[in-house]
Amino acid sequence: MIIQPKTRGFICTTAHPEGCAKQVQQQIDYVKAHKKLSGPVNVLVVGASTGYGLASRITAAFGAGANTIGVFFDKPAEGARTASAGWYNSAALEQAAAEQGLKSFSIVGDAFSDSIKTKTIDLIKKEFGTVDLVVYSVASPRRTHPVTGETFSSVIKPVGSAYTNKTMNFHSGEVSTVTIEPATEDEVRQTIAVMGGEDWGMWIDQLQEAGALADGATTVAYSYIGPEVTHPIYKDGTIGQAKNDLEKTAIALNEKLNVTGGRAFVSVNKALVTQSSSAIPVVPLYISALYRVMKEKELHENCIQQMYRLFSEHLYNGGVAAADGSHLIRIDDWEMREDVQTEVMKRWSNIETANVPELADLAGYQDDFFNLFGFRTEGVDYEADSEPAVDIPNLV
Ligand code: NAD
Repeated sequence: MIIQPKTRGFICTTAHPEGCAKQVQQQIDYVKAHKKLSGPVNVLVVGASTGYGLASRITAAFGAGANTIGVFFDKPAEGARTASAGWYNSAALEQAAAEQGLKSFSIVGDAFSDSIKTKTIDLIKKEFGTVDLVVYSVASPRRTHPVTGETFSSVIKPVGSAYTNKTMNFHSGEVSTVTIEPATEDEVRQTIAVMGGEDWGMWIDQLQEAGALADGATTVAYSYIGPEVTHPIYKDGTIGQAKNDLEKTAIALNEKLNVTGGRAFVSVNKALVTQSSSAIPVVPLYISALYRVMKEKELHENCIQQMYRLFSEHLYNGGVAAADGSHLIRIDDWEMREDVQTEVMKRWSNIETANVPELADLAGYQDDFFNLFGFRTEGVDYEADSEPAVDIPNLV
């Protein structure tokens, strides 16, 4: 069938298999064109099918020649409905890994559940023995607790008081003012339960208890801080509270792993267009202005450039992981550079619908958004018939 994008707000309900495959190949080509990484060897990526998790898996597999297991929550095609983008991405990744002779497996299911953890650990023990890197890159709106059975929902809201700022409809480029009411205490609690560190901690504990974690293993999860203008909705908001909890988990895990020479970090990454970030109010306008400034200064990076830098400058190749023994790795350093932020904020104060094309990179934002679903990819014939039912090789 001919697959076209069908968008509803910040969601696209279709995905293009060839477009997704091409983009995975572009990421693979990027890491292969760079210096080989000194590690890792055997890797588990939880949340591995899109965004930062996918780029982490590609960097490990094709930058270091690592064996990888990817855990993710994606749907196959059904009838006239296409699979989700993460499904097509993972199919392409598995295919490329097999061609390269790498051991590579995919597990589709709820990473928050005990059954998926057990299935993954069994697979690690059977195929790898142990893993020496665990990347935790889950971004989810919901989590069912494996012990209590309670289902939590995360919200993106300020904490304490209402927040008013500019926001943008990234399809039309229309800038408007949005006011977001503060979260209730229970919403904060639930957001921490979904996006905080508890599940990451459970993964590491269960891997360790099962003897599936190599001595000296590294684990990393991802966070965002960003500029003051977004603090009320991000850093100081519900999601920021969850990220504080993630940082506390990193400190606790670091202590546990240190006993066998291991380490745990939170890597603070750059703001990028992903399925998760496009759902946050205000952020798409900030990202558009940021893209414009970073592109003008030739500092722009996407997920794969960020992840290659994380692995090559911090985690491997003799890099210093985090400054002063901190648990935080800052690969948002270019985004947060003073000259970049000064220019973005200058634009922010003047930005309105009429001058968006001049002050921000709306076209770049839109391209990245459609790219997430395999659309607007160079070299793909979108008028051609496409088979939506694609198998993921090595799906366990
Ligand atoms: P994303 O939406 O692209 O990826 C999320 C991944 O989680 C997907 O692979 C999805 O399948 C998986 N997932 C979701 N629910 C799952 C479940 N129940 N079980 C198994 N897998 C599940 O998100 P992203 O933007 O790459 O975010 C990853 C991490 O990076 C998050 O912690 C996010 O806060 C952080 N981060 C994002 C940005 C940004 O700008 N996008 C910046 C800094 C940090």
